[in-house]
Amino acid sequence: MSEKIIDGVAIGKEIREEIKARVSALKERGCTPGLAVILVGENQASHTYVRNKQKSSTEVGMKSELVNLPASVTEDELLSHINKLNNDDSIHGILVQLPLPDHIDENRIILAIDPKKDVDGFHPINVGKMMIGQRSFLSCTPYGIIKLLERTNTPIKGKHAVIVGRSNIVGKPMGQLLLQRDATVTYCHSQTVDLPSYTKQADILIVAIGRTKFIGEEHVKDGAVVIDVGMNRDENGKLCGDVDFEAVKNKTTAITPVPGGVGPMTITMLLKNTLQSAEEAVAESDK
Ligand code: NDP
Repeated sequence: MSEKIIDGVAIGKEIREEIKARVSALKERGCTPGLAVILVGENQASHTYVRNKQKSSTEVGMKSELVNLPASVTEDELLSHINKLNNDDSIHGILVQLPLPDHIDENRIILAIDPKKDVDGFHPINVGKMMIGQRSFLSCTPYGIIKLLERTNTPIKGKHAVIVGRSNIVGKPMGQLLLQRDATVTYCHSQTVDLPSYTKQADILIVAIGRTKFIGEEHVKDGAVVIDVGMNRDENGKLCGDVDFEAVKNKTTAITPVPGGVGPMTITMLLKNTLQSAEEAVAESDK
């Protein structure tokens, strides 16, 4: 890979090795970090994501627990599974794979997870703490992007970061994390008028919209760093991003590919959050 391609697989691997070493240290102290994943229904993409999360957690030495529930599960039954895991000392991270079936209120489910075990960083307590710069679990995808920027020595301070997409799990927290690192942040979304006039100002352009190859050459300033969060399928069923990689890459200083950019970092940061939770539990029991 050329130097300007940001290699999320390699950076993710490097961080997972660090996590593995810290998991070993915790095990020597009698604590095996445990990640529980709750999977509801038969969504094939969700099954694949969950398999990857389980595989990755066991590879770094964590305990992985799967709670596989039928699509017909009631909200109360799901809440009682969460409650059980909240009270299980061998579990340090709880993740409910989204989306959930329509009859289940996602917000109610997220609220039920103990914020100390909310390794996805979706609970309003963790979102609020992140907003005011307190230690919390950070949403895994934006956290992973920060790590990609840091580990490639990409300057953030004083740079203009433009985020396209304002979802609660990617766009919004992404802007906050960059703001905390002294970037000047602009948010764009589906109602932004004249999108290229904003994106062309970006030193760091982060795109999370879910539109195949939407961002082209006309959106990108010469020398920009481009981070593509999108995970879409093109007309041939091939995985691709929100950015037209081939059209844009020669204008950039650095760019993430899809696959192999942001995706591997999201799971890595899930492991990092689970480790953080286990380390905090051990520190708490030492008091
Ligand atoms: P959402 O659908 O929740 O949000 C999409 C955002 O993009 C919205 O804010 C929407 O604006 C905005 N948007 C949509 N169309 C346009 C447009 N034409 N111009 C400008 N803005 C637009 O998506 P997510 O944030 O959950 O995910 C975005 C993409 O990232 C998806 O492809 C998803 O699969 C991928 N993803 C990848 C991850 C990874 O690990 N690599 C993790 C999470 C997501 P508005 O608010 O106005 O509707």
